[in-house]
Amino acid sequence: MTEPLYFDNNSTTRLDKSVLNSMLPYFTQSYGNASSQHHFGLATKKVVEQARVTIADLIHGSPNELIFTSGATEGINIALKGAALQVQGGRNKIIAVTTEHKAVLDTCVYLEQIGFEVVYLPVDRFGLLDMETLNRTIDKQTIALCVMLVNNETGVIQPIADLTELCRDNDVLLICDATQAVGKMPMDVKELGVDILIFSGHKFHGPKGIGVLYARKGVRLVPHIHGGGHENNLRSGTLNVPNIIGLAKALEIAEMESIHNSISILNLRDSLERRLLTSPSAKINGHIKNRINNVTNICFPEIDANSLIQRIPELAISNGSACTSAVFEPSHVLTAMGLTRSEAYGSLRFSLSKYNTLKEIDTVVNILGPYLRLISI
Ligand SMILES: *Cc1c(COP(=O)(O)O)cnc(C)c1O
Repeated sequence: MTEPLYFDNNSTTRLDKSVLNSMLPYFTQSYGNASSQHHFGLATKKVVEQARVTIADLIHGSPNELIFTSGATEGINIALKGAALQVQGGRNKIIAVTTEHKAVLDTCVYLEQIGFEVVYLPVDRFGLLDMETLNRTIDKQTIALCVMLVNNETGVIQPIADLTELCRDNDVLLICDATQAVGKMPMDVKELGVDILIFSGHKFHGPKGIGVLYARKGVRLVPHIHGGGHENNLRSGTLNVPNIIGLAKALEIAEMESIHNSISILNLRDSLERRLLTSPSAKINGHIKNRINNVTNICFPEIDANSLIQRIPELAISNGSACTSAVFEPSHVLTAMGLTRSEAYGSLRFSLSKYNTLKEIDTVVNILGPYLRLISI
């Protein structure tokens, strides 16, 4: 057994030690409830509001446009259900892309069950959404269009800013799951032109169980967690102060290190990719250019990715299938892009972070060499 190798950073990331240190005082020293009016509460409220300003600045929104959630799944639920239920009579349609995260797709299925119409937009073989179908589908009946910025399986970047005008013309809310983008690429909600943007701390070396929902001023959502009226009455419940501080710190660090990290991660990814592509018939899944720098998703037509992963447990990578109730279904993202079931079963995803090294890439290539018939370069 070699040292464990972590190449599954799109699932979750290692917490940055500076993030941990920033959080620690809020467990045993400044543990007040941010809603309380005494010294402990006021002190906590102050740091929470500072964190909110920090995060707002880094995504170019205003502090009062941010809601803290338990993560992206919750943010997506608040956004989609909140937008759908806000509309009374008349409009009934939601549009989402077929390659969205399950948090979006499963929420859409629920909305269908309670009477909304959901249209699922196809993508081309590069994973980019089909603008023609979108133009034909979007209309005055449409409540919201939900498009992710960066795909978690392939890293493909959707042209969100190109959708703004179309949405404005039709009075449609543009909802964007930016969970795989925030902390990895510059983020400007105004430039993107989104009405709602969602992300999660644990995908960029922040803590698990904390996320942010940005809702542009004027956007109205029906709350779905009722209680003490916290977070503009949209998401009640005592604020998770250590996690909020940790998320703000993680985003600050990501911004500070962004130039250095994006170049070094890209170099590692490209080195890994170049060597994996020496496998016979291997090819990259997703658009080569419109793609984030930390992911490579490659189809090796001759292998079964799942049994390969099980044979090498010390190597943390992900495959082109999802285990749903003990049966392995091929990835809905890859099949939406036109891959056959067996091509999807033969696909591997490597997602990198700032903690990966060139030495680890060498080790991965050495381990996988015999299985993938790599030519050593
Ligand atoms: C991880 C992820 C989610 C879910 O985030 P949680 O914070 O774990 O709920 C949603 N969307 C995308 C694109 C993701 O990668």
